[in-house]
Amino acid sequence: MRLVVLGGGESGVGTAILGKEKGYDVFVSDFGKIKENYKEVLIKNGIDWEEEKHTESLILNADVVMKSPGIPEKAPIVKKLVEKGIPVISEIEFAAPFTKAITIGITGSNGKTTTTMLTYHLLKSAGLNVGLAGNIGKSFAEQVAEDKYDSYVLELSSFQLDGIINYKPHIAIITNISPDHLDRYDYKYENYIDSKFRITMNQTEEDYLIYDADDEAISEWLQKNKTRAKLIPFSLTKTFEEGAFIKNNTMEAIINQEEFQMETAAIALEGKHNFKNAMAATSVAKLMQIRKATIRESLSNFQGVEHRLEKVLKIQNVQYINDSKATNVNATFFALDSMNSPTVWIVGGVDKGNDYNELMALVREKVKAIICLGVDNRKIIDAFGNVVDVMVEVGTMTEAVRMAQHISEKGDTVLLSPACASFDLFENYEDRGRQFKDAVHNL
Ligand code: ADP
Repeated sequence: MRLVVLGGGESGVGTAILGKEKGYDVFVSDFGKIKENYKEVLIKNGIDWEEEKHTESLILNADVVMKSPGIPEKAPIVKKLVEKGIPVISEIEFAAPFTKAITIGITGSNGKTTTTMLTYHLLKSAGLNVGLAGNIGKSFAEQVAEDKYDSYVLELSSFQLDGIINYKPHIAIITNISPDHLDRYDYKYENYIDSKFRITMNQTEEDYLIYDADDEAISEWLQKNKTRAKLIPFSLTKTFEEGAFIKNNTMEAIINQEEFQMETAAIALEGKHNFKNAMAATSVAKLMQIRKATIRESLSNFQGVEHRLEKVLKIQNVQYINDSKATNVNATFFALDSMNSPTVWIVGGVDKGNDYNELMALVREKVKAIICLGVDNRKIIDAFGNVVDVMVEVGTMTEAVRMAQHISEKGDTVLLSPACASFDLFENYEDRGRQFKDAVHNL
């Protein structure tokens, strides 16, 4: 059996290793350059590879192709493979049959990483032999090759879900759905929603789907379509006989007739969106029969994830918060919603078709000044120019932070929550967040 792997990054190299171990004739092809450390691994494992080209004669003879998530379906080589009827699958699809471990698959537009890390923290703290993979950390396929874990918590993007055929998680979570990455879905929101719901398409009556019952797109899909999985909803506003919800500042999760309660004030993560993430992770923990005391302890000591509403420093009684990972309006909505002091808001970057009206009420209520940090800030200025008193444009992160310090007063918050991608001025959102933190530390 010939396995061709498109893309020589983390998931590609991991898949190649697993394929080789399982006896496949493996070939890795990357249209760009392969990083040195990955080349070394390929060479060490005796795996053939090429870079900066796709040699068709070595690719179109595959029995199965693993496409890395970064490569679009529109890429000419992928089109050719599909035309020839060769299965093009994702890393998860390839690797899952080689492990007996159960998987917990987590998808959604926002909150994937936070919910994945929190779920992993809950299970690991309870002593389970659990691995972490998907969009995070070390390749799932490579970990399957090493065969160390009884269960995995997997962060799954829609690109990974597009490449599944038979894969099913025992427990699936859809954190929420809002328009994102529409360029990869023919600019059709329905296509993107359907892609997220692929996470449940192979689930059976023994499996679970945990989902945000406050989310319109999710509720609509569930009304119109069927899943065999057992449904576990969570909500900030509704209550359920089975599911998770918030009532009188207490989080409750009722799963298999067992009830778990915890005051929201004792949950380390702040903000309503994080209560949702906590409800989703707690539901998993209950399904996995983790003890209440362990769940409580883990929820109260989870430190959060870098660049997600991350508290940086307090200087002259002004709190600086790094939410650089907020690359769309929905994420920024929850960031602004969780502010409880007058806010100087740093926003801007590459707009992915944002509708800023969704933020209008929150901006009126919470924001005293806007600092635009993007190459093209027109949409932001048009939307909020008449709404806030102070609006300035800057060209670098250092300027943005200095300006924020200048404008802010004791008791205020300075929030970097861009609602946009970072590629106009930064390498990626991590670079943007790090530059913010450095600038704050240098004040
Ligand atoms: P993802 O991995 O899906 O991008 P992250 O956990 O990295 O999600 O969070 C991305 C951004 O969305 C951050 O700004 C974070 O504060 C915000 N966020 C986290 N959870 C949620 C949620 N449940 N709903 C909306 N926004 C969220």
